Amino acid sequence: MKIDLHSHSTHSDGKESVQQIFQYAAEAGLDVLALTDHDTTAGWAEARIEAAKHGITFVPGIELTTNHHGVSVHMLAYLPDSNYEPLQTIMEEVRTARETRIERYVENLRDDYKTLTMEAVRATLSEEGKSLGRPHIADAMVNLKLVADRDEAFNGPLDKGARFYVQSAGIPTVQAVKLVHAAGGVSVMAHPLARGKKGEEVVITQLHREHFVEVIEAGLGGFEVNHREVGDVARKWLTDLATEFNLVLTGSSDYHGMTGKKNRLGENTTSLEMLKRIESQGSGSAIQWA
Ligand code: AMP
Ligand code: FE
Ligand code: FE
Ligand code: ZN
Repeated sequence: MKIDLHSHSTHSDGKESVQQIFQYAAEAGLDVLALTDHDTTAGWAEARIEAAKHGITFVPGIELTTNHHGVSVHMLAYLPDSNYEPLQTIMEEVRTARETRIERYVENLRDDYKTLTMEAVRATLSEEGKSLGRPHIADAMVNLKLVADRDEAFNGPLDKGARFYVQSAGIPTVQAVKLVHAAGGVSVMAHPLARGKKGEEVVITQLHREHFVEVIEAGLGGFEVNHREVGDVARKWLTDLATEFNLVLTGSSDYHGMTGKKNRLGENTTSLEMLKRIESQGSGSAIQWA
């Protein structure tokens, strides 16, 4: 069984529609796909229809933007109840904060890139109310011929180290984990301890351990260890931590579309055993088995 639990559509910063993604998922021979757009469940309804068309099992998910001790942490939430009011309210707030952040980012970039405007960024959106992110600035810069592609933007003006950088907007990680749990969902930390641009690994310290334990104690369900941005040292350390606390381990592509990012559907996968463990812990919404 080929199980990929992390993908993005045009409802957030993916380049392809939900319909297109499931078409490609079928071509890639995927049996199971989770749609995990940033801070929105807007793509779920369409995903259920498209998955059924292709005989693919659909796992409803979200990738929540959070912060833990000043570090940006992406939290995957599987099987939450999308009708749970507090979850929708928080996501709406985060989407608004994302917009404010992008406005500030564009202001900064306009020092050097005079033709870049917020209108040009908005023009890259194809869905109503979608969640804005740095990739949309990159798309606007491509359209304005300021860079060749998203990668060039992320390696240049949108790099964290560049002087234009604005901190990402998110809720505290512990709050997110508790919220997901209250919504009947299962939290899986996305690409933990992701490598830097040059492939360098994070040096793991006692402090890191304490910070991870705080999130685990809040109710974290697992780690996404098989991901192209998680290096060997981190993978081993996270796997040991997962064994110690009986957590789930997943693997996923984090697909953003053919031209969105290099990640390809099914390049990393999750075992059926792990998916079953997620299913047994999640009660807010159901896996749509094919
Ligand atoms: P943030 O750090 O919150 O601004 O999130 C950055 C977003 O940009 C994430 O959703 C990443 O998937 C995406 N991203 C990071 N690097 C690249 C890249 N080189 N090309 C396209 N998207 C990227
Ligand atoms: Fe993304
Ligand atoms: Fe992420
Ligand atoms: Zn992602």
